[in-house]
Amino acid sequence: MKKRIYGQEFGFSTRAVHTGNDVDGETGAIRRPITMANSYALPYDPSEMNWSGADTSLYTRNGGSNQKYLEEKLTSLSGGEDCVVLASGVAALSGLFFALLKSGDHVVFSSVTYIAVYRLLRELLNHKFNVETTIVDTSDLEAVRSAMRPNTRLVHIETPGNPTLAISDIRAIAGIARANGSLFSVDNTFASPYNQRPLELGADFSVESLTKYINGHGDAMGGAVIGKKVHLELIRAQSQVNLGGVVSPFNAWLIMRGSVTLPLRMGRHNENALRVAQYLESLPCVRFTAYPGLESHRGRAVAVSQMSPGFGGVLAFGLDADHDAHNRFVSHLGLITSAVSLGHDESLIVFLGENDERQYLYPPEFHRGFFRFSAGLEDGEDIIADMDQALKKSGLR
Ligand SMILES: *Cc1c(COP(=O)(O)O)cnc(C)c1O
Repeated sequence: MKKRIYGQEFGFSTRAVHTGNDVDGETGAIRRPITMANSYALPYDPSEMNWSGADTSLYTRNGGSNQKYLEEKLTSLSGGEDCVVLASGVAALSGLFFALLKSGDHVVFSSVTYIAVYRLLRELLNHKFNVETTIVDTSDLEAVRSAMRPNTRLVHIETPGNPTLAISDIRAIAGIARANGSLFSVDNTFASPYNQRPLELGADFSVESLTKYINGHGDAMGGAVIGKKVHLELIRAQSQVNLGGVVSPFNAWLIMRGSVTLPLRMGRHNENALRVAQYLESLPCVRFTAYPGLESHRGRAVAVSQMSPGFGGVLAFGLDADHDAHNRFVSHLGLITSAVSLGHDESLIVFLGENDERQYLYPPEFHRGFFRFSAGLEDGEDIIADMDQALKKSGLR
C-alpha cells in the first residue's frame, strides 16, 4: 500500500504530485482511473438511502470519485479542512452565495471582482431575493469597517482583483469580519494556492476558478470552495446536488492531472509576468502598468505581506492610444493570443474597460480602456519581443 501523502509535513510540490492519487484497487495501476458513469449499483434494500446526500454512491450529481480525489488535493494545498469541486468558478461562487445567504442578509464585496460576482450579488440575489449588498473598495480598510452592519453575513473579496490587480489585506479584513460575526470569503484565482493561501491568513473560504492556474492548460473548466467542514457540508449539498453544479468526472481528472505541475508552472508565470511588467513600465507609450510585483504598485506592501513566492501571472496596462490603435496593436501580435481567460499555458491578452458599466468603481487610469495580460509559460524574451514588434508596427513605439 502506498503511503498516504496528505499532511502539511510534506512540501507543497510533494502534495501537488501525490495527494489524491493512489494505486487503483482493482487493476493495480498507479494512476487512478476516470469513472465515467452516471449511476451506481443500489444495495439490496435501498429504502434507507439518502437520495439528496452529497457523499452517496448513487448518482454522479451526488458526487463522483474523480471529484473526491481532486477535493482531497485542493484541501491539502489550500490548508483547509474540506473542499467541494464544482463545474466552474462561477458554480463555486454561486454555490457559496446560495448556501450562505438568505433574504434580509447583507453582503459587503469588493468593487473589483469577476463580473459574475457583481451580477450574482448585485443583480440576482439583491433584486430577486432581497439580499442587501454594499460594494466597497476593499483595499481601503476604513471603507470595509464602515460598510459593516449587524446583519452582514458575508464579506467577499478578490485579491489580486480581476481586472485591475487591486490588492486587499486578507488578515486585516478577516479581523474586521470576525469582530462583526460575519463570514469571510476570498476569491484566490489570480494568486493560486502556490502564491497565497487565504485560509492561513484568517479567511473562512478560499474560492478558486480551477479553469485558470490549477488546471493550467486551457482545456477544462472547474471551480472549488475550500474551508471548514461545517460550512462545506451545506455548500456541497446545495451547490452540487440541488443547484446541480457538479463537475464532470473527465474535467475533474484533467484538472487533477494539470494540478500536478502547478508549482513549476506558477514559478514561470510569476517570473514572466514580472519581466513583462518591468518592460511595459519602461515604455513612454504605456500610460500605466498594474502588477503587484512592481515597486510602483499601490498595493505592493500588502501584497508582499500575504503573497509568496510571487505575485501571479496577470497584469493590466494602459496604452497612450486611441480606439483603433488598440485594435491595431492586438492584430500585430503573433505569439500572444487575443482571447479571454487567464492562467493558460499560452499568453493571452484582452482589451477591457471601454464599455464596463463598473468603470466608475475603478481608479481613473482604467477609465480609458486597458489590457489584461496573462503571461504564459513561453520564454519571457519571446513574449516581450512579440509585444515590442506589435507596438512598433502599430505606430505606438
Ligand atoms: C475566471 C474567474 C472566475 C470564474 O471562473 P469560471 O471557471 O470561468 O467560471 C472567478 N473569479 C475569478 C477571479 C476569475 O478570474
